[in-house]
Amino acid sequence: MQNFKVCLFLLLCFTSLLTQSCGVNPATGKQEFQLVSDKKEISLGEQNYPYGQQSSGGIFIHDADLTKYVQHVGQKLTKHCNRPTLPYEFKIVNHSIPNAWAMPGGKIVINRGLLIQLESEAELAAVLGHEITHAALRHGAQSMERGMLIMAGIVAADILMPDENKMQKKALLGGAALSATLLQTKYGRNAELEADHFGMDYMVKAGYDPAGAVHLQEMFLKMVDKKSPNWLEGLFASHPPSKERLTANQAYAKTLPKGFLGKEQFQQKIANLKKWDPAYKAFDDGLEALKDKKYTKAHELATKAINLFPDEGLFYQLRGAIYMQEKDYKPAIQAFTVSIAKNPNYFYPYQQRGYCYKKMQDYKNAKLDLDKSQKLLPLEETKLALDTL
Ligand SMILES: [Zn+2]
Repeated sequence: MQNFKVCLFLLLCFTSLLTQSCGVNPATGKQEFQLVSDKKEISLGEQNYPYGQQSSGGIFIHDADLTKYVQHVGQKLTKHCNRPTLPYEFKIVNHSIPNAWAMPGGKIVINRGLLIQLESEAELAAVLGHEITHAALRHGAQSMERGMLIMAGIVAADILMPDENKMQKKALLGGAALSATLLQTKYGRNAELEADHFGMDYMVKAGYDPAGAVHLQEMFLKMVDKKSPNWLEGLFASHPPSKERLTANQAYAKTLPKGFLGKEQFQQKIANLKKWDPAYKAFDDGLEALKDKKYTKAHELATKAINLFPDEGLFYQLRGAIYMQEKDYKPAIQAFTVSIAKNPNYFYPYQQRGYCYKKMQDYKNAKLDLDKSQKLLPLEETKLALDTL
């Protein structure tokens, strides 16, 4: 019986391979084996983009001019890429960790924490050009295709597995949300080199100086040498920098025409980020203090951040989180309420306020908040809290 199931499964796999195996490689223009169609790739990106933004800190809402600028630079590059017809989008997310990512189908974000580290528009173009390449050359889709083949192996193993182990396997299969998988995609060494190389082509065609891509790698390597923990968690986890990448970029830049660096323009555009940086620094330190259970210090840092930049919802969220740890649920709810008023589109303060209401046995309000949180970002832990109301 089990063998029959395996055969049926393999037959289904094989049929699906036959029906979806034809596609054009965007880099070479040649036919290649593809499991994920263009349509599927685009719809996956569209469905998971909002969740990816939520789990990366939510949209950065305080500087519409800066957002427009990032989008303008990004769109300028897409005109010259290998798949200009993808529905590219560019957003800034509100996270201090320096990072950037692309989902299949051209859905791209850059973190506030990376923007502030850059020095010129050409460096921004290098980051975005690199991410555009991951989408344009199907790097995400390709790693999903590899994942699908691995999954096929897991499912086959599941069919053969005795029943008592199946629960565990099921948790493994269902536990990781797809958007998280898409975000944690690690591309191989070749994909990284390719993304740098093609990204530089797009930059140059859009008029930028390829030196931007060289500076970027130099800066990344310096950060690695310093072992900056934020960097190791962020961009470097998915885009490991290396001497090899720097050398390749230097060599390629030499063959390309010079262009626009845009240092001054860029510095003007990130002036607000620089102005608010001490507030975000206090917030980040406050998070660390909270982790170390130094509540008085954490409160001081939250208050400092709020005084420096009262419009930022994250800072009230920190205050709420500290009160919550102190089991002081009333002021925690107040702080999360202010956080929500400052930014009603981020899941976290709803989730946390929902937990507080639950603790206070106000199940009606708990349900309202947890439902809202689930709508913005469906999470297993929120579901569990809802199920046990
Ligand atoms: Zn990359």
